[in-house]
Amino acid sequence: MFDALADRLDSAWKKLRGQDKITQSNIQEALREVRRALLEADVNLQVVKDFITEVETKAQGAEVIAGVKPDQQFIKIVYEELVQVMGETNIPLAQVEQPPTIVLMAGLQGTGKTTATAKLALHLRKLERSCMMVATDVYRPAAIDQLVTLGKQIDVPVFEMGSDANPVEIARQGVERAKAEGVDTVIIDTAGRLQIDQDMMAELAQIKEVVQPHEVLLVVDAMTGQEAANLTRTFHDEIGITGAILTKLDGDSRGGAALSVRQISGQPIKFVGVGEKVEALQPFYPDRMASRILGMGDVLTLVEKAQEEIDLADAAKMQEKMMAAKFDFTDFLKQMRLLKNMGSLGGIMKMIPGMNKLSEDQLKQGETQLKRAEAMINSMTTQERRDPDLLASSPNRRKRIANGSGYKEADVNKLVGDFQKMRSLMQQMTQGGLPGMPGMFGG
Ligand code: GDP
Repeated sequence: MFDALADRLDSAWKKLRGQDKITQSNIQEALREVRRALLEADVNLQVVKDFITEVETKAQGAEVIAGVKPDQQFIKIVYEELVQVMGETNIPLAQVEQPPTIVLMAGLQGTGKTTATAKLALHLRKLERSCMMVATDVYRPAAIDQLVTLGKQIDVPVFEMGSDANPVEIARQGVERAKAEGVDTVIIDTAGRLQIDQDMMAELAQIKEVVQPHEVLLVVDAMTGQEAANLTRTFHDEIGITGAILTKLDGDSRGGAALSVRQISGQPIKFVGVGEKVEALQPFYPDRMASRILGMGDVLTLVEKAQEEIDLADAAKMQEKMMAAKFDFTDFLKQMRLLKNMGSLGGIMKMIPGMNKLSEDQLKQGETQLKRAEAMINSMTTQERRDPDLLASSPNRRKRIANGSGYKEADVNKLVGDFQKMRSLMQQMTQGGLPGMPGMFGG
C-alpha cells in the first residue's frame, strides 16, 4: 500500500543523494517532494503544512553525521516526524477497574463499523476480556442481523431489541445487561449514514450522554483520504472521540488518513482493519505505519546501524579511494565484512530507498556472489589484493586462486573483470548509497 507516496519520497531522496550537507537550499526540493507526496496521498492540507514546517526546522538544525548520507539523515527526520504525528506509541483500548468498559463505535455507513465491532470483540476475547455487543442500528435491519451473525461466528453475545426500539434505549439496556452479567467490555455498534447529518449526530450524542462510554472510537475508512480530516473534525467537535480505528488498510489506500486523524483530533488510532475477516484487526503502531508510508522498510534501523558500524575516518578514506579508482580487494573485503556486521544483505537492501524492490531471488543471488568473492579474495596474496591489475594481466595467478579457493578459473576471471568494471564505475559515480555499496551486486 501507499505505493504512490513511497515512489514520490523515493525521488526526493534521490535528489538529496550525493550531497554532503543538509542546507536550506538543497533541502527545499526534497521538502517540495514530500509535500507533494503527502498531498497526493490525500493528507489534509493543514496537516501537510505543519508537517513540512516541522521537518524543515529539524532538518536544518540537524548536525550532519559523518558516514551517514544527508538523504539517509533526511529520511530519518521525516520518519521520526511521521511517527510523532501519528502518536509515537500504541495506545491500547481502555479497561476500567469497575467493569464493564463501555465502547461506543461511531462512523459513516460502509466504513466497516459493524465489522470493526466484531473484530474488536474477538480481539478482546483473545485477551481474555469477555464481551457483549449491542446492536442499535435500527434503520438498517440487515445491520442487526449482520451483528448477530458475526456474534455467533466469534461466540460473543449480541444484545438487540429488534428494529422498532429506540436506539438510545437499546444502548441503555444493553449496558445494563452487560453490567448484570459481569461482562468486561460492552461494545455498542451505532447507525451510520452515507454522509454526516444532524439526526445521526444528535442520536449519537444522546447515546453517549446516556451510556457515558469510556471509549468513543471513530471508524475511518482509509480509502476516504482528504475526507478523513473533515470527518474526524466533525465527529470530534460534536461528539468527542477518544480514538479511531482505521479500516481497509489492506486495500489500495493512499494512507493520508492515518496522518490526519491524530493531528486533527489529538486522539490516537488504536487499531487498523486489514481485511474483511473478523480476525483482520491489528493494533496500530505509529512506527510501523511510518515505515510503511515511506515504503522502505525500517530506515531508522539502517541509519542507526550505519552510525554504529562505520568507522567514520575509514569511510571518508574509502570514498576518496573510490573516486581515485584506488579501491582494491582489501577494501572490498573490508566493506563486505562491514556489511556482514550490519546483518544480512537482504535485510540491509530492504532498508535502502529504491533497493527495496529487489526480489528475494536477486538478494539471495547477491549474497551468494559476495560469499564466493570472499573465498576467492582470501586466496589472493597481499600484493594481489592491493593491486588488482596484477591479476588482470596474469592468467597463472588467476589459475592459482581458482585452485586455492575451489572455484573455476572462469569464476576468478569474472571476479577480476567485474572488479575492474566496478572501479571505473565508482569513479564516474556521483550517486551515493553506503560507501562501497554500488557495483557489488552486479552479476
Ligand atoms: P458499516 O456500514 O460501517 O457497519 O460497514 P460494514 O461493517 O458493514 O462493512 C462494509 C464493508 O466493508 C463490508 O463489505 C466489509 O466486509 C468491508 N470491510 C470492513 N472492514 C474492512 C477491512 O478492514 N478491509 C476490507 N477489505 N474490507 C472491510
